[in-house]
Amino acid sequence: MSDGRTAIVIGGGLVGCASAYYLCRDGWKVTLLERQMIGSGASHGNCGYVCPSHAMPLSGPGVVAHTLPTLFKRDAPLSIPLRFDPGLWKWLLLFTRQCTTDRMMHAAAGRNALLASSMSLYRQIVCEESIDCEWTDRGLLLVYKSAKDFDSYKATAELLKREFDIQAVAYPGEAVKEFEPTLKSGMAGGWHFPADAHVRPDKLLAGFKRAIEQRGGEIRENVEVVTLLRDGKSVASVETSQGPFTADLIVLATGAEAPQFAKAIGCQLPIQPGKGYSLTMRPLKNQPKIPMIFEEHHVAVTPLESGFRVGSTMEFTGYDRSINPKRLALLRKSAAEHLEEPLPETVNEEWAGWRPMSVDGLPCIGRAPAARNLIVAAGNGMIGLATAPATGKLVAEIASEQTPHIDATPYSLSRFA
Ligand SMILES: Cc1cc2nc3c(=O)[nH]c(=O)nc-3n(C[C@H](O)[C@H](O)[C@H](O)COP(=O)(O)OP(=O)(O)OC[C@H]3O[C@@H](n4cnc5c(N)ncnc54)[C@H](O)[C@@H]3O)c2cc1C
Repeated sequence: MSDGRTAIVIGGGLVGCASAYYLCRDGWKVTLLERQMIGSGASHGNCGYVCPSHAMPLSGPGVVAHTLPTLFKRDAPLSIPLRFDPGLWKWLLLFTRQCTTDRMMHAAAGRNALLASSMSLYRQIVCEESIDCEWTDRGLLLVYKSAKDFDSYKATAELLKREFDIQAVAYPGEAVKEFEPTLKSGMAGGWHFPADAHVRPDKLLAGFKRAIEQRGGEIRENVEVVTLLRDGKSVASVETSQGPFTADLIVLATGAEAPQFAKAIGCQLPIQPGKGYSLTMRPLKNQPKIPMIFEEHHVAVTPLESGFRVGSTMEFTGYDRSINPKRLALLRKSAAEHLEEPLPETVNEEWAGWRPMSVDGLPCIGRAPAARNLIVAAGNGMIGLATAPATGKLVAEIASEQTPHIDATPYSLSRFA
């Protein structure tokens, strides 16, 4: 039941949906505005990992030196085609500054808090709201072809255990094939994170949508927010393709597109779209049991009850929605090098989405410097599905000025103001 306070959530991805859900639970009368359909952004075709194992950010000591030589290669998992884009170059410069041990560990602690909280919140939501999203508890397996890479991951596994109590089990050599027999022989080994889980993202979104509506929220699809009009220190009106909307609270959850509202927010958000791809097909005859990341290619496979998904690669090509067949071919190539069974020729869906890549690996969650009634929730990067519930809960806690369930300081926008 609403207690009279009104909120508009902009963006119907997982972060917007989770924010709307927790605001409804806290008694807000919520209207969610989505430009297309729920899940039209990065949240629909991602790999579905609920992965506390992903506490470490992309940035870290040595990352730039290690990645730079591969960056401009066409078939590298990470691709940054050379072009004039001052926003991207600034982002890259800021990213290089994050590559110190202190900053890496600061980001890891913030990510771990969101990931760990989200795992328990998901278990609660999926159960309480009876969400059928093919939730599966089989962990996540990192697979290595190179013995050197497999061995060097030991230091990260030890760090994750020591700092965050995240457990990984090593399967060296052929032991990894015994553990996951659908792999080809000859892998150097694998690291298994037993506490990870996975879901089918579109079904999770459908579950959130139903739960929001059942709790009195209204979802308005095909409404594009054009601008946020400020009156002094608050947003007075949300101008949309369907006319103006007003509310006591505005939540901006437009993923990779959040930076376009910098003027209303009062600071630039260093978020770039990191385009990734996925292919979804019927289940394989010899379907793997465990989701896997083929580490040398950064390609991820997700065995779903209703299908099989291969995803990943990261392209910094700006706000470009096109699907590059060469990137899809890389997904197939990697699967062919690791799995016994070839992928079927025909797939059900070829998909691309923009990961909202913040420069420091931490999302931006907090009140906007220029408008007290505007909360930003964006920049969840490669872990937006895995961190959506805690992000949404934090949004609701900040909105109602409750003590946050985890320390919200690392995500504050003041770090960019
Ligand atoms: C290939 C790939 C695999 C991934 N795998 C995983 C994974 O396994 N686990 C994980 O945790 N994360 C994964 N991610 C990352 C994850 O998908 C994202 O972090 C997450 O979806 C971001 O959610 P969001 O709600 O912030 O943004 P989005 O899902 O992009 O939602 C933003 C929404 O806002 C809407 N919008 C934008 N502008 C406007 C406007 N002006 N007016 C109205 N609406 C607007 C868009 O239409 C969109 O629906 C993956 C991403 C990719 C690309």
